[in-house]
Amino acid sequence: MIFSELRQDLVSGDWILIAPGRLRYQNHDHRLKREGKRERAPLKQCPFEKPLESVSNKVILNFVNHTATGLVRKTTKPDKNWRLLVLENKHPVVLNKNKISRLKHHGPFSTMEGIGHADLIITRDHDRNFPKLSKRDALHVLEAMRDRYLTLLNEKNLAYISIFHNWGPTAGASVYHPHYQMFAIPVLPPDIQHSLNGSARYYKAHKTCVHCDMIRWEKRRKKRIIFENDEAVALAPFVSRNPFEVRVFPKRHRPYFENTFNEELAGVSEVLQKVLGLLEKKLGDPDYNFFIHTAPVRDKNRYSHYHWHIEIYPKLSKRAGFEFGTGIEVNIFDPDKVAKILKSQK
Ligand SMILES: [Zn+2]
Ligand SMILES: [Zn+2]
Repeated sequence: MIFSELRQDLVSGDWILIAPGRLRYQNHDHRLKREGKRERAPLKQCPFEKPLESVSNKVILNFVNHTATGLVRKTTKPDKNWRLLVLENKHPVVLNKNKISRLKHHGPFSTMEGIGHADLIITRDHDRNFPKLSKRDALHVLEAMRDRYLTLLNEKNLAYISIFHNWGPTAGASVYHPHYQMFAIPVLPPDIQHSLNGSARYYKAHKTCVHCDMIRWEKRRKKRIIFENDEAVALAPFVSRNPFEVRVFPKRHRPYFENTFNEELAGVSEVLQKVLGLLEKKLGDPDYNFFIHTAPVRDKNRYSHYHWHIEIYPKLSKRAGFEFGTGIEVNIFDPDKVAKILKSQK
C-alpha cells in the first residue's frame, strides 16, 4: 500500500494527494462510514408531497402514469397522477427574465446579471432516492433531464446547463424528498472549462479521446472497475479527489448528453442505480452529490473530442486549509480499494 502519492489528473491537469497512510493516524475503521442514521423528514412538512396544489409551482413537464395501461406519457399539463415533475425552482439562484445577460464592468471587475433557469425534477415517492426507484422511474429522471435540456437549448442566453443531485443535508439538500436540479447559466463554469481544455489538449497530442483512453486502460487493469453493462461503466478514478469517488461513463463516445439515445440512457441509469445502491449499503448511506459533465450548449462543432459523464462525490471528508490554500485535494482513501470493497459480499 502506498503511504502517500501525488497524482496528476489527466483531464484537468490538477494535482491530487492520495494519502491513505493518514487514515491510520485517524483511528478510522478500514473503510470510512457515515456516522449516525439519516433523518427522515415527516411527510406532513414535505413541500413536494402536493406540489400541484401550490399556485407558485410552475409545471414545465409531467410524466404521468396511465392507470389503465400502465404506460407512462409525457405532458406539459399538470396531472394528479404524476410520477415525475419538472418544476421551476421557487428559490432559484438565477432568474429567468427573458433577457440577455451582458458583461458589465465595475472598476477593474467584470460582472453579469444572474439570468438563466433553475429547474427542479421531483419523483413521486418521499423515500425513494435514485437507487431505490424502479428501473423505469430512474430512467425517466435521466430522460426528463435530457428532454428539458433540449428545450432549454432554444434559449439564446445560455452557455452551460448544469445537472446535479444533492442527497442529504451535508451535500446541500435542503429538502429530504428526492429531487434533482438543473441550472442554466450564461457563463461557462471553470471546472467545465478546465475539463474541456484538458480533453482538447489530449486530443491534439494523441488523436483520441482522453476519457475513452482512461476507460480502456482501466478495463485492462480491472481493479478499479465497479460495475458495467453493454452501454456504461462505473469506475473509481486513479486520480480520485474524494474517498469513494466514482465516475460513470457511457461507453459510446458522445460529447453531448442531450444527444444520448434511450437505450444508452437506460444503461447509464442502471449503472448509476447500482453504484449508488452499493455506496448506500457499504458505507452506511452517506450523503453525496452527483453531477453531469457535458459539452457546452454553444459552438457545437468545437467539442467533438469531449465525452460526457457523471461524477459521484460521497461526503466522507472535509476540505481544510491545505485544500483551500492550494487546490490540491487530499484523499485519505486509496482508490484502488474502492471497487473491491463495494463489490465484496459482506
Ligand atoms: Zn415528500
Ligand atoms: Zn470518448
